[in-house]
Amino acid sequence: MNIHEYQGKQVLKQYGVAVPEGHVAFSPEEAVKAAKELGSDVVVVKAQIHAGGRGKAGGVKLAKNLDEVREYAKELLGKVLVTHQTGPEGKEVKRLYIEAGSNIEKEYYLGLVLDRETSRVTLMGSEEGGMDIEEVAANTPDRIFYEEIDPVVGLTGFQARRMAFNMNIPAKLVNKAAKLMLGLYQAYLEKDAAIVEINPLVVTGDGQVVALDAKFNFDANALYRHQDIMEMRDYDEEDAKEIEASKYDLSYISLDGNIGCMVNGAGLAMATMDTINYYGGSPANFLDVGGGATAEKVTEAFKIILSDKNVKGIFVNIFGGIMKCDIIAEGVIQAAKEVSLEVPLVVRLEGTNVEIGKKLLNESGLNIVAAGTMADGAKKIVELVG
Ligand code: ADP
Ligand code: MG
Repeated sequence: MNIHEYQGKQVLKQYGVAVPEGHVAFSPEEAVKAAKELGSDVVVVKAQIHAGGRGKAGGVKLAKNLDEVREYAKELLGKVLVTHQTGPEGKEVKRLYIEAGSNIEKEYYLGLVLDRETSRVTLMGSEEGGMDIEEVAANTPDRIFYEEIDPVVGLTGFQARRMAFNMNIPAKLVNKAAKLMLGLYQAYLEKDAAIVEINPLVVTGDGQVVALDAKFNFDANALYRHQDIMEMRDYDEEDAKEIEASKYDLSYISLDGNIGCMVNGAGLAMATMDTINYYGGSPANFLDVGGGATAEKVTEAFKIILSDKNVKGIFVNIFGGIMKCDIIAEGVIQAAKEVSLEVPLVVRLEGTNVEIGKKLLNESGLNIVAAGTMADGAKKIVELVG
């Protein structure tokens, strides 16, 4: 789960990481009020969306007086920002962060991620901050430094100082930067984050080391133990179909293709998507209905797939192990009754109660194309979708 920059900064503050003062605003009036409270000469008006690259897209504005704050707030609220992280459809700005302007001397990059190859949290840092770190990684990978963190020992002061030196933080600020890194690691660990990115981390004219941006991503499986983080969830930023799916405990991820997939088991779901791709099609979603799904759950899953306007055909690929084929059939039939099914439906069933399932489908009056194997099913749905 992602949160907004201003929320990330609230979390950082709790861990002693220096951030500029700021207030969230939902209207130009609130923006002006916030700027007055800050009492800073220069105020930054920042669009709050769950995507980076706002600066380049015109979502970060420097205001030198209250009139400018109002003007920028009016301009940004309701605007659809298209950044390299939003996709071409962009994201509508509904919140602003009004922040004290920082006297930036230099911008750096700092991040914490879980490295799945070493199974360790890794601190990443670079002198090349402010810009796309992906570009730095691609063109000048030697400008990025890494510290692999031992889970028992945690991030050590030595590692943090070594990172600060590698990043070329001015010598007299190395200890401040190291302290910030330790706070950042503590926040990452205690809040069960998956990613924390500070881009840029800045050194200011008056010798402070400050986090000027904050991106947090949290491990969804650990959210139940962080009520405070859960309350930061912004449904406006999430895919409506994914929110609906999470209500029914379905593992659903919306994609940009046109073949809806209903599968049980994450591995089979991945294989199904691969097979569709192999035959020249493109999946509209990843969906694992799980092992012990009820007919009701299957019905909801089917409805969610159908609510996607891009879906031009559906491929149901079920191996009934724990899941029974007749339950799937019941769910599909129920959903098709509730929502009129106007796109082709290919079904491949195998395993427990397969005969009952097939019989139910055959007698349902639904226009179903039966498939013998996964490849056969993928081929058929790709042909039908055209
Ligand atoms: P994004 O990563 O989405 O572009 P950032 O928060 O990193 O957004 O802001 C982009 C740039 O705007 C920063 O690299 C920095 O140069 C400038 N900036 C952001 N916040 C402030 C601030 N409080 N004071 C001064 N400059 C800022
Ligand atoms: Mg940034």
